[in-house]
Amino acid sequence: MADTKYIFVTGGVSSSLGKGIIAASLAKLLQARGYKTTIQKLDPYINVDPGTLNPYEHGECFVTEDGAETDLDLGHYERFLNVNTSQANNVTTGKIYQSVIEKERRGEFLGKTVQVVPHITNEIKRRIQLLGQNGDYDIVITEIGGTVGDIESLPYIESVRQLKWDLGDHNSLVIHLTLVPYLSAAKELKTKPTQHSVKTLMESGISADILVCRTEHELSDDLRQKLAQFCNVKKEAVIQSIDASTIYDVPNLMLEEGLDTITLKKLDLPNDSQPDLTNWNKFLSRHKNPKAEVTIGLVGKYVELQDSYKSILESFIHAGAENEVKVNIRSIHSEFIDIEGKTKITDLDGILVAPGFGERGIEGKIEAVRFARENNLPFFGICLGMQMAVIEYARNVLNLPDANSTEMEAQTKNPVIDIMESQKNITQMGGTMRLGAWECELKEGTKVFEAYGKSTISERHRHRYEYNNKYKEQLEAAGMLSSGTNPQTGLVEVVEIPTHPWFIGVQYHPEYKSTVKTPHPLFIGFVKAAKEYAKNKKK
Ligand code: GLN
Repeated sequence: MADTKYIFVTGGVSSSLGKGIIAASLAKLLQARGYKTTIQKLDPYINVDPGTLNPYEHGECFVTEDGAETDLDLGHYERFLNVNTSQANNVTTGKIYQSVIEKERRGEFLGKTVQVVPHITNEIKRRIQLLGQNGDYDIVITEIGGTVGDIESLPYIESVRQLKWDLGDHNSLVIHLTLVPYLSAAKELKTKPTQHSVKTLMESGISADILVCRTEHELSDDLRQKLAQFCNVKKEAVIQSIDASTIYDVPNLMLEEGLDTITLKKLDLPNDSQPDLTNWNKFLSRHKNPKAEVTIGLVGKYVELQDSYKSILESFIHAGAENEVKVNIRSIHSEFIDIEGKTKITDLDGILVAPGFGERGIEGKIEAVRFARENNLPFFGICLGMQMAVIEYARNVLNLPDANSTEMEAQTKNPVIDIMESQKNITQMGGTMRLGAWECELKEGTKVFEAYGKSTISERHRHRYEYNNKYKEQLEAAGMLSSGTNPQTGLVEVVEIPTHPWFIGVQYHPEYKSTVKTPHPLFIGFVKAAKEYAKNKKK
């Protein structure tokens, strides 16, 4: 095929309509028809990346292979497509301005006045086209964060308008996602908000080619007709996106609505083949027909916000389907763990202690580790969760009651977790952690080796502190094994307790690599152990 085609996804009426899921579902359908597809997210905020954002602000920060700290929608893209994203797949206003300002300081604008149009818009256009440049993709889907009409989205919308013109007919299209609300008092679906939002888009010179309408009720034929006529699109370009019980149903729902067919038609691409969703549907059927149930306690300090641990929750869905069990997640706030009262932490089949930063809630995390260790309950610690497992072991088994991480207590007498040497002189906090994919060598005969079935693995990271090797001998002698290390630096990546049925802590983030096609081996192993535990409990 000659040139890359571009699809832009904008949103109207309200935020949180699920643009990321619609973009990922469309990409899935196009990929299943044989088109090489990628997705990019443009975020209108000024932060250079979401790495410095608190999860309460923006949900989880997703990390790519090449170490970009990105929007959580990139996680959906990878989980749906099983294709890695990279630095180029997430662009923020901060990044755009940063590069334009750096260029200005270098004097590269040759005395010109630097302005939003054309300099900022040119930089946005360059970033959009970067992914399509090397012929790696037939189709690039670009999701524009925020809602049309927002002040901060304006340069992006203007860039899309220009690009549509630059690229010419049939080489790009705009999908506008809106909400068709149901007024229960009137028992009616309302089209006016969609009409207004399409109008707002038009004021910026863009007419939507396809409307995807989020709705809680089926859109009638009449209503589709009305939306088409008032919003200037063909009736077949009015796509209903009805609430689904799982996000993994959305590709099939979009297929039924013909979103992929109308997209290909408008891009002048062959649309006679049918998407091959065989494996996807196999996963769905396993996911929807579990043979057993397990309950996992997710211990973290951001549990009140569902998006904070998005990739972990999705990894459990993949691993649950693989094990044919339903994984119920019980969120446990690490600040309010009450072991004595045995309120929430008992009656579980496994405990996962989540990643995190800072002191808040860590004593609760340590208590949760102790409970899992002492009761032979399957335990999985990720990043901070692994560090807490080491601290717990040092305090309660090695009898070092003051053992801690220097992140929590700089002057601790027993820093079993300490700042990495390479982090000591860092003063700028943005983008400077140990990020992205690093190799790890696993010891044969260990539980972690059994889970992966090989000795060299590569996993993604996001941390500044590490297992302190000065305590390795003591910890190992007392029964906590370091079963995975970085081959170059000796940094301990995995700890486990061989005498426990399933107790593994990992410094890296396995949740970033679990996809529908390739569920993560450690999540599969953990859920399997929880399944065993639940079965034995019943006996
Ligand atoms: N705060 C810890 C560190 O920086 C753990 C980070 C994490 O859980 N992602 O090492």
